[in-house]
Amino acid sequence: MSGKCNLCEETYTKSGMTRHVKSCIKKNYLQKIKTEDIEKFISIAKN
Ligand SMILES: [Zn+2]
Repeated sequence: MSGKCNLCEETYTKSGMTRHVKSCIKKNYLQKIKTEDIEKFISIAKN
């Protein structure tokens, strides 16, 4: 299972995604976005 980060368009494994998105958001949006909103920026492949 893998997912795509909607912030930087990179693809990561599901477990790697959670860690990546937190740092990616800080990089791309600084801290405008709350941690709870992170899932909105993750699109996990269904298959
Ligand atoms: Zn990213």
